[in-house]
Amino acid sequence: MRVHLISDMEGISGIVNTEQTGAGKALYEEGRRLYTDEINAAIRGAKAGGATEIVVMDCHGAGDGFSWNSLIAEDLDPGCEYVVQDEWTGYTAFLESGCDAALFVGMHAMAGTSDGVLNHTVSGVDWQNLWFNGTRVGETGINAALCGTWGCPVLLVTGDRAVGREAKALLGDGLTTVEVKEGLGTKTARLLPPRRAHELVEEGAKRALVVGLEAILLRGALMSESYLELRLGELLDSVTERAGPGAGAVAAVSAASAAALVELAARATDLEQWPEAAGAAAQARRLRERLVPLAREDAEAYQAAVAQLNEHDDDFALGEALARAADIPLEIADHAENVSALAAEAAARANPDLRADAAAAAALALGAAWAAAKLVEVNLAMHSEDTRLARARQIAAGATRSAREALTTDE
Ligand SMILES: [Zn+2]
Repeated sequence: MRVHLISDMEGISGIVNTEQTGAGKALYEEGRRLYTDEINAAIRGAKAGGATEIVVMDCHGAGDGFSWNSLIAEDLDPGCEYVVQDEWTGYTAFLESGCDAALFVGMHAMAGTSDGVLNHTVSGVDWQNLWFNGTRVGETGINAALCGTWGCPVLLVTGDRAVGREAKALLGDGLTTVEVKEGLGTKTARLLPPRRAHELVEEGAKRALVVGLEAILLRGALMSESYLELRLGELLDSVTERAGPGAGAVAAVSAASAAALVELAARATDLEQWPEAAGAAAQARRLRERLVPLAREDAEAYQAAVAQLNEHDDDFALGEALARAADIPLEIADHAENVSALAAEAAARANPDLRADAAAAAALALGAAWAAAKLVEVNLAMHSEDTRLARARQIAAGATRSAREALTTDE
């Protein structure tokens, strides 16, 4: 499971004034120590909750060379990687590459919150209020929108009481929050000692991942129905017609079915037995949600190519249309290979009762990957130098390795 830990300094336990958060100020080194220790607590909790890859992004503008760089690197938990950047929240590569959950640690309330310790929105000087589509947001809202852009759910917000309230109002009561202090004014607070706060942050990070991902999987199950506009019987009927969806669409549906089996096996597994099971279930869900619409896209691209042929009666034009359309089976093959790799892992590590389902998923995903790779080859028949051909072969070989592994695992 891939987890993004996005953090700020003002909401860290033990921090109440700007002397602790500004580079060069008398208490800044103390602030950095408190900050680093609390981030480490969140990292421990995330690992216990099943995170296998944790990237920390510090979003605190301390000033001088310390902006987005206040963590004490040599003391950070070796189980994470961290980002130092040029601009506030400028790093999005981890989100773009597919991230299962975001945890916000050390957040502060939006500007103007009377009980928000060190409250502000982006800049205490230049900004006061910020609205997204009519909803007033602070930094929690900005960062949540950033994560939401790439479909990454925010599962934890820690900080003072005010930011917990603000975050729940925005993101819903299902959000896990941890309160490490109660603001009595901008620079006045009643605080938990950091050691106690760290226990709560660690526990909260773990709980957020375990409970939060389960809730998201359930909601995803309801949402993804909208992708499936055809009943299975209708879909199969339309496959029998020449103008209907072709082999690419069938491969996408097969790979999606395999992904559903992997999700079944992963969800039925104890985290003690397979700590990454929740992340694997979430990944299988994402693959399925991408594969089902690809079935339709493939059918549409195929029909467009056929229309091209009817209109021009021209092999060259058809060849060009097919080459353009090769991206879709290539994407189907790529996702199917990912499903087969997940299935192989599930066949080895999931609840023993469901390992046969995972092995079956690996076989189905292999078939889908091969079928889609073959279609890439057919689409590019007139373009033997196209690099997508090599990629398709590589994908088919990868899926073969995974399926062989899954089908020969004996338990
Ligand atoms: Zn800050």
